[in-house]
Amino acid sequence: MTTIKENLVEMRRRFHRLPEVGFTEFITTYEIYKLLEQMDYKLYLGDDVLLRSARAGVPAKEKFTKSYERAINYGVPEDFLEYVKEGTTGVIATLDTGNPGPHFAARFDIDGLPITESEDEDHIPGEEQFISLHKGEMHACGHDGHITTGLFLADYINASKDSLKGKFTIIFQPAEENVRGAKSIVEKGWLDDVDYFFSGHVGIRNMPVGTVSAGTTDFLASSKFDVKFTGKSAHAGVEPDAGNNSLLAASSAALNLNAIARHGDGSTRINVGTMRAGSGRNVIADTAFMEIETRGETTELNHYMYEKAKTVIQAAADMYENEVEIIDMGEAPNAVCSDELITAVKQSVKNNQLITDLKDTLPLGASEDVTMMMERVLEKNGKATYMLFPFELKYGHHHPKFDLDESVLQVAVSTYIDIVNSLMKRD
Ligand SMILES: [Zn+2]
Ligand SMILES: [Zn+2]
Repeated sequence: MTTIKENLVEMRRRFHRLPEVGFTEFITTYEIYKLLEQMDYKLYLGDDVLLRSARAGVPAKEKFTKSYERAINYGVPEDFLEYVKEGTTGVIATLDTGNPGPHFAARFDIDGLPITESEDEDHIPGEEQFISLHKGEMHACGHDGHITTGLFLADYINASKDSLKGKFTIIFQPAEENVRGAKSIVEKGWLDDVDYFFSGHVGIRNMPVGTVSAGTTDFLASSKFDVKFTGKSAHAGVEPDAGNNSLLAASSAALNLNAIARHGDGSTRINVGTMRAGSGRNVIADTAFMEIETRGETTELNHYMYEKAKTVIQAAADMYENEVEIIDMGEAPNAVCSDELITAVKQSVKNNQLITDLKDTLPLGASEDVTMMMERVLEKNGKATYMLFPFELKYGHHHPKFDLDESVLQVAVSTYIDIVNSLMKRD
């Protein structure tokens, strides 16, 4: 007996209207929890889901207050908010069939982005009235589709549990954007005894719906960090020599970060995304703030960029006699999908009529903190893969007019169901 009463599109649109950025997914967590509660899962919330100290890039207190009030107005009960209100969002659902068998885990990310959704007429969510109700926040990456896929998978497993074996863990992870949330779940030990680990993304590659890749290559390892320079202010006319200029320290850092020699072993990236400095025209700037990221084709290449960046930043600070603080805001390693699981996925879906083009792998070319989870599973001798479910992208991910081709949802859900039926069916 299935529990979910709405269809895939209705559910996706419901979540699309309620985007919340990483670690403030209060309404999202509640809505996921409410559905799972009607099934036979054991549910975990708050500090049982993640290790607070292993989170990165947790928003400022004001953001929590704003999102908390919004959740209260929406109707999330205060006693529920107690679990999540300090940024311990997300839900983990486990189910033990009682029949001996492998441990299956799947991860779905649930956060939105700090983007204002387009109100242009040709943007379907506006036209069909499921545009974001949260001004300045948007599901512009398709995680509304991931939540939906995860819930339908959970429903299927629950409804079929008598014919399944082994154990299931379904992770609804907060704060994937800027690779901030996965580590805190890994550090809680959730991936330590997983045999088969699955995750994936809708979109990414601009290809027709029905294309599925059983695995993914080209995860870029990444480090995100903030930098604070602290100098000394002085009157810019009377005694500029008495100041230690933070604006110049940050500027030299920005230029020289982009001049780090590229590594011969493979591709790397660096981006100084923001820089703010100073307080007034006639004042030597005594503070500067920057948001920076590095990436690399491998964990080692990213590490190279990150270490060089630290050297450059310290040198720029020294040059202008500034103090400097580097604050880590998120990280993701590179990961390699297990060949055995790629083969298993391909075998599982061979009769799936919705899949018209089945590929071994497609490249991601981006960073994903699920690689933290994959790394842990692989370390413990489990197998992991990350699947892609492309569709024709009218606008790219993180664009104010990004939208899902909703027919991809059925492809994703049916792929997961085929995998469960193939790997987890009772003999
Ligand atoms: Zn994204
Ligand atoms: Zn995404």
